[in-house]
Amino acid sequence: MDMTILGCSGSLSAPDNPASGYLLRMADGREILMDMGPGVLARLQALGRPGDVDVVFSHLHPDHCSDFPSLVVWQRFHPTEAAAVRHTLLGPSISALHLGRASADHPSQVDDFSDIMDVRSWHGPAPQDAPVAFDDESRGTVYPGHHIGSAVLYAAPAVHPTESYMIRVEDGGASLVYSGDTAATGHLAALATGADVLLCEATWGERDNGGNPPQMHLSGEEAGQAAAQAGVGRLIITHIPPWGDAEGALRGARRFYDGPVELARPGMDVRIGG
Ligand SMILES: [Zn+2]
Ligand SMILES: [Zn+2]
Repeated sequence: MDMTILGCSGSLSAPDNPASGYLLRMADGREILMDMGPGVLARLQALGRPGDVDVVFSHLHPDHCSDFPSLVVWQRFHPTEAAAVRHTLLGPSISALHLGRASADHPSQVDDFSDIMDVRSWHGPAPQDAPVAFDDESRGTVYPGHHIGSAVLYAAPAVHPTESYMIRVEDGGASLVYSGDTAATGHLAALATGADVLLCEATWGERDNGGNPPQMHLSGEEAGQAAAQAGVGRLIITHIPPWGDAEGALRGARRFYDGPVELARPGMDVRIGG
């Protein structure tokens, strides 16, 4: 599995960095876009084929989904590169309503984009053949897996003000875990156990100084603690806001995690697994 970071700015886009957007290339050649904040579709046009991607959402705050209505326009109306098949949209249970409203012409309308996308919910009924990842309570809650091509995607509940998930992607023996946006929770280390790469937010910088809003985000120290507890192979720190302390987040993570740690940056290519 390969990941290209299209954007990784936290909470909003930055002058040289779109907000959250991670393009995954699977062993079978399929491409899955994880989150789609402002600026991501422009990068996707430069680096990929917007008509050919499946989309998964950690949650639907604007910095993670606001380019989606424009992807609908591309996949529906592009004269030569519209979607040739119905792609998958996997996200919170409110995705069809929330994103449909964002795509509609009038506040009372909901654009039904099921003509181009098969909309599925992380927590909804899973396909019958879906494996259940971890049903041991000590390892935390993980919902049944969803197949997209050769990949299997799992989610666990995040701690954040809207319906939010942490995501684990497994493909051909490679594993990536993405924190999405979350405050500290044992579900993160449980979901990330043994993963090749943990892509983890550290919005608060080095440490949570107690002055931040509760139940929102992680610090570098908390990202490092989760990476160490889960025994991941590599930690990539992301979702630093334009005003954030990226170097502090790195310092905090290294205080708790001995493995390789680095900052996400736009355009970065990451090889995951063999
Ligand atoms: Zn965010
Ligand atoms: Zn958020």
